[in-house]
Amino acid sequence: MKRKYFGTNGIRGEINVLFTPAFVSKISAAIAASFQSKGTMIIGSDSRTSSPFIKHGVIASFLASGFEVIDLGIVPTPLVQFAVNNIKADLGVVVTASHNPPEFNGIKVIDSDGIEIDLEKQKQVEDIYEDEEFNLVSWDKNQKVTKLDLKNEYIEQICGFVDRDRIEKKKLCAVIDAGNAVGGLVTPLLLRKLGVKTITINGQLDGRFPGRGVEPSLENLKTMSNSTVISNADFSVAHDGDADRAIFGDETGRVFYGDISIALFQKFILKGERNKKFVTPISSSLIISDIAEEIGGEVIWTPVGCIFVSRKMIQEKNLLGGEENGGLFFAPHQSVRDGPMAAALMAEIIAKSDTSLSELANELPKYHQKKNKINCPNSLKKKVMDFVIDNVQEKVEILTIDGVKLIYPNSWILIRPSGTEPIFRIFVEAKSVDKANTIMEKGLKIVNKAIKSVH
Ligand code: MG
Repeated sequence: MKRKYFGTNGIRGEINVLFTPAFVSKISAAIAASFQSKGTMIIGSDSRTSSPFIKHGVIASFLASGFEVIDLGIVPTPLVQFAVNNIKADLGVVVTASHNPPEFNGIKVIDSDGIEIDLEKQKQVEDIYEDEEFNLVSWDKNQKVTKLDLKNEYIEQICGFVDRDRIEKKKLCAVIDAGNAVGGLVTPLLLRKLGVKTITINGQLDGRFPGRGVEPSLENLKTMSNSTVISNADFSVAHDGDADRAIFGDETGRVFYGDISIALFQKFILKGERNKKFVTPISSSLIISDIAEEIGGEVIWTPVGCIFVSRKMIQEKNLLGGEENGGLFFAPHQSVRDGPMAAALMAEIIAKSDTSLSELANELPKYHQKKNKINCPNSLKKKVMDFVIDNVQEKVEILTIDGVKLIYPNSWILIRPSGTEPIFRIFVEAKSVDKANTIMEKGLKIVNKAIKSVH
């Protein structure tokens, strides 16, 4: 479904380029009009310098449309989702651009079930925006704005899902890199409540993200890594700009890709459960398939994007899901990615284990991944994918949930058309670096041949 403004995670844009006061008012009035009920809207924002101006623009349009507004202040995205569920609000809006640079901001729209609105609803909002068919009310229908702090309730709920006594007895120490963002308002408090000693770095809110940058990439987490070793901590955790994701490091200072941490969650949380299904996007590592086999579970593949994982989990009543970017979905709490929840669960896994986090990670199967891209006009993308599917010569399992994934024994190639640029992204994974290079060459050859053939 073609959308002009909504991307994978809401609407994002540069301040006073896309996100002007006029755009914010108009798109917010369109969001309000797409919800017929005129009930309660919950709003929260990240720590960006532009968030106050956008937040007040959003609130103005919702008040003008007859909604009552509850303002949670500066909070993580998952806390807004928690609030929508708990207060039974009609919707939530989060003002955030997650991990994008400070000159960006964005809007995530949360449906009444706590999950971001689906593609159909996004399209509906854009149609209302284009047609300017807003639903403004008369003066006597304007409602009020109430401020509400739900941090304690949110933290208490998370604490209720882990073994507090076991964690406390283990006397763990964690380094938290909040990246000058909203995760610093919750995760240190949460872990301390669980009896974990915490050392927080980049803990002060600053919308310019001067500490390590807003993206918890491996290059940005060197200070976290060093602090973990120096302070003899048991693990470290870093969040992105709206704390819906968590990236972990072990006691030796090694920081993991999300694949490693979600595989640990899959292994240790699902082991004792009856429903051992793990929901994850098609780009996730073979480690997930191997763990599923080891614990007698199953992998449910989805298209890339957290909305697809959440909706699949709700649809099939699954307990756990994860993304390679460090997003963890734990259904008993809520079926959306939640960075603080992931931090609490990691503390529990380490507390219940006889060994260190580095050893737990070392026990996982090892794979190597590579990424590449090839230019291709948007008009040819569909034909290229059809050509690839029709012309595969070897015996291989093909998945077409999102792009084309060719699955070989112990390796795979994923060919995905970019939604925003005229390129194909190629992802591969294999047991060794050499094999990953060979299979990447093969992937590039397959796509180049397909582009030439359909031209
Ligand atoms: Mg995020």
